[in-house]
Amino acid sequence: KFITLEGGEGVGKSTNLQFVTEWLREKGIAFVQTREPGGTPLAEELRELLLSRREEAVDPTAELLMVFAARAQHLAQVIKPALERGDWVICDRFTDATYAYQGGGRQLDRALIAQLEETVQGDLRPDRVLLLDLDPQVGLERAASTGAADRFESEQLAFFQRVRAAYRERAEAAPERYAVVDASRPLEQVQQQLQSELEKLLR
Ligand code: C5P
Repeated sequence: KFITLEGGEGVGKSTNLQFVTEWLREKGIAFVQTREPGGTPLAEELRELLLSRREEAVDPTAELLMVFAARAQHLAQVIKPALERGDWVICDRFTDATYAYQGGGRQLDRALIAQLEETVQGDLRPDRVLLLDLDPQVGLERAASTGAADRFESEQLAFFQRVRAAYRERAEAAPERYAVVDASRPLEQVQQQLQSELEKLLR
């Protein structure tokens, strides 16, 4: 199974990622934990470049191509081999983040993203996308208070509202592949829902 965890800033992605991996460990499921952009030495270098280039405004299309370049390498070296072995893969962000950040946030053409998705992934899609959904006003406040602030997009509220809207649009278009988790609730409730979503994957 291929599971991805998605969401905007301050939704609690790191904490809940840990919850998911602990669940997998408890169940004795062989899995690979990875992230995007990143997951291989080359892809991590591309991530570094994307996150550190602030002095030179990155062209949105250049950003998009770098994200997909990293993804191609990550798929070839990590994700596909793991799935072929029968391991589960839990990935912190994947192509939905591209639709959300480059499509929604940076307002690139969704058809272009879909074209690259097809080229790079063929028909490979996550079995389940766990989407942590939260009002960005709340998320940005949370992120600021924990000092989590590595990002390469402008930190404007409108940007993150578009990111959230794009994520939700994706989930609405294919509800069978998405679990939308209301991340404004107490952590315990969020994790209860995550657990029941994971249990569904065992059946
Ligand atoms: O997942 P994490 O928050 O660590 O991601 C690092 C940064 O990369 C985030 O601030 C996110 O906004 C950005 N990102 C992006 N486009 C992607 C994936 C991540 O702008 N496709």
